[in-house]
Amino acid sequence: MLREAGEVDVVTDIIAWKRDGRELDAERLQAFVAGVVDGSVADYQASALLMAIVLRGLSDAETVALARALVETGKVLDLGVVGRPVLDKHSSGGVGDKVTLVLAPLIAACGAVFGKMAGRALGHTGGTLDKLESIPGFRVRLSQGDFLRQLERIGVAVVSQSERLVPADGILYALRDVTATVDETGLIAASMMSKKVASGTGAVVLDLKVGRGAFMKRLEDARELGRLCRLIGAEFDRRATCVYTAMDAPLGRAVGNRLEVEEAWQVLTGEGPDDVREVVLALAATLLGLSDLGVTEAEGRSRAERALADGSAAEWFDRWVAVQGGRWKPGEFHRLAESAVGAESDGYVTAIDAQAVGRAAQLCGAGRRRVDDEIDAAAGVVLARQVGDAVVSGDRLAVVCARRRDRGAAAQQVLESAFSIGNEAPAPVGVVLAEDGP
Ligand code: URA
Repeated sequence: MLREAGEVDVVTDIIAWKRDGRELDAERLQAFVAGVVDGSVADYQASALLMAIVLRGLSDAETVALARALVETGKVLDLGVVGRPVLDKHSSGGVGDKVTLVLAPLIAACGAVFGKMAGRALGHTGGTLDKLESIPGFRVRLSQGDFLRQLERIGVAVVSQSERLVPADGILYALRDVTATVDETGLIAASMMSKKVASGTGAVVLDLKVGRGAFMKRLEDARELGRLCRLIGAEFDRRATCVYTAMDAPLGRAVGNRLEVEEAWQVLTGEGPDDVREVVLALAATLLGLSDLGVTEAEGRSRAERALADGSAAEWFDRWVAVQGGRWKPGEFHRLAESAVGAESDGYVTAIDAQAVGRAAQLCGAGRRRVDDEIDAAAGVVLARQVGDAVVSGDRLAVVCARRRDRGAAAQQVLESAFSIGNEAPAPVGVVLAEDGP
């Protein structure tokens, strides 16, 4: 309760402290974050501090203290009852990033345990919870007991933050989304790692996205994010391995919640775009190498490839979705009205601006512009061409799926500028860029 501390309005003092470029100590950060949860700090005050942080940056000490303050607003799960190490993965946020939907059941199908507290859409990037909730009936809010029982029973569970686990991050995350205060490296590291610490997982692989569609535009910035995440991990005795993956163009072809579930299913059944499959296999290999299965990363990768090819990963997806209440059959989702964006010249697709595609999907209704916006599960964008593909003038480059015509038209306009067409095919570049161990 910040306001009870004395005559001065402590909330504005803290905001002014950071605004003026001074370092926030652990006590101030803790008081502020606790106030966000107990309601004594108003949303507009939290937003003001977030903006001051974005403008002034966070030091290493502030970043670790913020992560600690976030964790302390809730409980830390003890996963000991599962009896085995629980593996976890977290992405720093991308466009078309449906990796968790494939990776979670894949890891379970390979015999290890995967448990995760996931996030919602943030800015132009999508969120795993919104994707899962696009499956009718899917419950992302599980009690702690149900989460643990599910991990023991089927080896996979993905849940939302709750009032019990890092409630402060849930509130701040939603505010950051709508106040242009996402892209600060320390804020992102503290947000990501607070969830990893609170969910009690033993080993985590961070998929840190790099490029135009990511919060980190350059590999060196993503590596700085990785350094901060590993620093927080070390403070809490959690090993974090960082895998850096490309996010200049969207991952795969589908961008939008239900559209991405469908594409994830394609990858789970051995099909789907190569780039999604490649990121999934790289992360699966790293995670299985950290698991209790006693396999090397290379053996882990072979197991994961087999599970995608023999149908066991897809079977596990069905089991997982059913246990969390989802009712789903491939191909049965209703597609919204589509409008197409066409190529204006012959040539090759040399770039697709992931951020623009993310914005277009958001405009269609796949993301939020205000905290209380409802997501349209079926809205989004499907790319008909990927980088490197040859096109002839008039060819379909992408389709927009929107419920409202005005939204579809706005998205279409943004999408038109997302594609670059050149005379020469670009040199192929791998999607997995680098890895930093724990
Ligand atoms: N993912 C998170 O959990 N938090 C962020 O701030 C960004 C991506």
